[in-house]
Amino acid sequence: MDHFTYRDGVMHAEDVPLPVIAEAVGTPVYVYSRATLERHARVFRDGLAGVPDKLIAFAVKSNPNLAVLKVLGAQGMGADVVSVGEMRRALAAGIAPEMIVFSGVGKTAAEMVAALEAGIGQFNIESEEEGVELAAIAAARGMTAQCTLRINPDVDAGTHDKISTGKADNKFGVPISEAGQIFGKLAGLPGVNLRGVAVHIGSQLADLAPLEAAFEKLGALVQALRGAGHEVTHVDLGGGLGVPYRVGEVLPAPAEYGAMVERVTKDWGVKLIFEPGRVIAGNAGVLLTRVVRVKRGIKDPFVIVDAAMNDLARPALYGAYHHFEAVAPKGGQMTANIVGPICETGDTFAMGRDCDALEAGDLAVFRTAGAYGATMASSYNSRGFVAEVLVDGDKFAVVADRIEAGAIMDAERVPEWLL
Ligand SMILES: *Cc1c(COP(=O)(O)O)cnc(C)c1O
Repeated sequence: MDHFTYRDGVMHAEDVPLPVIAEAVGTPVYVYSRATLERHARVFRDGLAGVPDKLIAFAVKSNPNLAVLKVLGAQGMGADVVSVGEMRRALAAGIAPEMIVFSGVGKTAAEMVAALEAGIGQFNIESEEEGVELAAIAAARGMTAQCTLRINPDVDAGTHDKISTGKADNKFGVPISEAGQIFGKLAGLPGVNLRGVAVHIGSQLADLAPLEAAFEKLGALVQALRGAGHEVTHVDLGGGLGVPYRVGEVLPAPAEYGAMVERVTKDWGVKLIFEPGRVIAGNAGVLLTRVVRVKRGIKDPFVIVDAAMNDLARPALYGAYHHFEAVAPKGGQMTANIVGPICETGDTFAMGRDCDALEAGDLAVFRTAGAYGATMASSYNSRGFVAEVLVDGDKFAVVADRIEAGAIMDAERVPEWLL
């Protein structure tokens, strides 16, 4: 459930009519709802009420906007970060360092140092090589990095290939078949306290079964590690819960997820860490856009909007579906190809889509754009970076300025020897 609803025929974000935002800030613009973010944080937390000892760390990569992080931090969430840039954002939003978890296969030495110095709560180590390097860096500083070892459980998450992360040939984690041996090696190193294991099998999961399969494998591994004399106090279960993108689509609710987690982990006796991203932010945002013109096509017309693949990359990257509707529907329907202005055929949001009838100048939204939306923006075609707005009741604020193409050009230099 979200707070983007029609009132008197006009879509509102909470109590703010979207045309008011378009008028004030221009388009395209991402619009987030504070009440929706808070609701999703609460529902996720409530779903895990039966898990006594836990940390819920928002996956910052899904929506790293500072104001969004501030809202979620105030809900008691920590942060799952995958770069020092994300770590700095979480800290700047007031999230305590000990509630920050650092994941990712390519942490550089400089990033490890920065994260150690910031005093983050946990490193999720993704390879033996990384563990050895982190241990050396920490030991040289007389520090101890709190760590888990990320396991690749070889489970097919049943989602899009590009967002599957838990199959044997994916780059993430260490193979479960070698986990015991690598854990043993790293646990003996000074500079690290290897206190558990982590898993994250992919994103936009529509089914709990692969998650349950991965957690079962992890449970068996925890037992085996303990059997080998290791102390295991922390297990990170990652993120991945999917959200409905299509009208009427039903996905596992956080309560069902929580019940499954509780059932599978009840005898583990560990602190559990969760890293939800999309399920918190996805339906808390829309991308508001204006129709530039409608162009006749051989079959369906092209509705050309002022948002493009540089603003919302998911359709071009993964063929993802985003529901598209008019902000102020006039009653009619059309079948159209929804495209952006960028000079690539990939800049297509939908082909042959049934949608509200639209004409030049009309406003429309792509829904479910709060996660993996603005965070993936680029300036391709010298279009500048899209703006972001946060709504709270009847007020709204620009929480990320539009970075105009000119400002990006200002950061470029022509060397003297070319002049
Ligand atoms: C991307 C990512 C997440 C968040 O995934 P969602 O599907 O958005 O919940 C969590 N953990 C790790 C390690 C990730 O890479």
